[in-house]
Amino acid sequence: MNILIKNARLMNEGDPVDFYIRDGRISKPFDEPCDRTYDVGGAALFPGLIDAHCHLRDPGYEYKEDIESGTKSAAKGGYTSVCPMPNTNPVCDNAAVVSSIVSKSKQVGSANVFPIGAASKGLNSKELAEIGLMKDAGIVAVSNDGLPVETSDLMRKVMEYAGAFDLIVMDHCEDKSISEGAMNEGALSTRMGLRGIPTLAENIMIGRDIQIAEYLGLPVHVCHVSNRAGIQLIRDAKARGVKVTAETCPHYFSLTEEACEGFDTNAKMSPPLRAEDDRQAVIEGLADGTIDIIVTDHAPHHQDDKQIEFSLALNGIVGFETAFSLGYTHLVRTGRLSLKHLVECMAKRPSDILKLGRGTLDIGAPADITCFDLENAYVFDKDKMLSKARNTPFHGHELFGKCVLTITGGRTTYEELR
Ligand SMILES: [Zn+2]
Ligand SMILES: [Zn+2]
Repeated sequence: MNILIKNARLMNEGDPVDFYIRDGRISKPFDEPCDRTYDVGGAALFPGLIDAHCHLRDPGYEYKEDIESGTKSAAKGGYTSVCPMPNTNPVCDNAAVVSSIVSKSKQVGSANVFPIGAASKGLNSKELAEIGLMKDAGIVAVSNDGLPVETSDLMRKVMEYAGAFDLIVMDHCEDKSISEGAMNEGALSTRMGLRGIPTLAENIMIGRDIQIAEYLGLPVHVCHVSNRAGIQLIRDAKARGVKVTAETCPHYFSLTEEACEGFDTNAKMSPPLRAEDDRQAVIEGLADGTIDIIVTDHAPHHQDDKQIEFSLALNGIVGFETAFSLGYTHLVRTGRLSLKHLVECMAKRPSDILKLGRGTLDIGAPADITCFDLENAYVFDKDKMLSKARNTPFHGHELFGKCVLTITGGRTTYEELR
């Protein structure tokens, strides 16, 4: 299969050029006829986005999302590779579940799927999972996401064991003993009469994980960092050479706790949306490299889990179809981050942290690419999402940066060209 993409601006730089794909790989120009030609009309062409942290709900919660719908949604957002967390049912804590996710993805997936294996059996924080066997089956990292690795003893063992297999541990940092609540702890939670979750709950765990990583000389990755003090812990640790990396999500740089006003359950997540000063700190952390990558934490839920009392609603929002637009609109167009930096945070660096060998436009690399219209504003409509779920707080927002074409391994996985 040969594909020609005409009028593409590579990384949005220079004049529009023709871009060639041959047999699933990025190619030098060739003369042979092409099986398929797309004219993207001057749209920006980037390496396909890579999401290091999402939830596809498959197996077990297919009424929320499944591999087919989730990866279609990912492709519509410009993603060519996604890494689902293991809090499925059964939990992805053994080679059989990993293999079934990998093989189903190959059959029905519209993106490459690189599963993340559980750190401990059943996410129970007691007994190590079979990390080596899961690595053989295809995992690219270990995590108990949704839950923290609760005890320091287990975290030490997980880091040592995962380290022996050259896998990174991604920790959902939350001290459960002080995190019982529904939103960020502060004046607003008091006014709304909701129990608050202090930034302390996140930062105690970030601090612990940094201490263990530093003591062992092993890497650790902090999931979805959301607040200023937590970011400073990571900044200080990096400065003294600790092998810590960190991610944040678009909602932490585009929304604050004020989105919870009116008790909109689509503003409920873990960690919770924080104050404006924290939002600024997230942007500063991205700009100075303290925060390495942007992930979606795509967390589809059925409306029955969201259209209920705020304190009872489940955490999380869908993210694939808004992530790039939110980054482009709130970071790049505001002058806080260069476009090149944004794309690095969403493709090359996630690939580097998980050692996927992707995220480039080099000749010979897998033809994972995506094109975005950066010129025209659009109004995001949740009812046009390809995800099964609708839990997004961004419905009706005017955004820039709409995906028009995604190609994964030389296969067209999303197309919306006029
Ligand atoms: Zn999490
Ligand atoms: Zn998550």
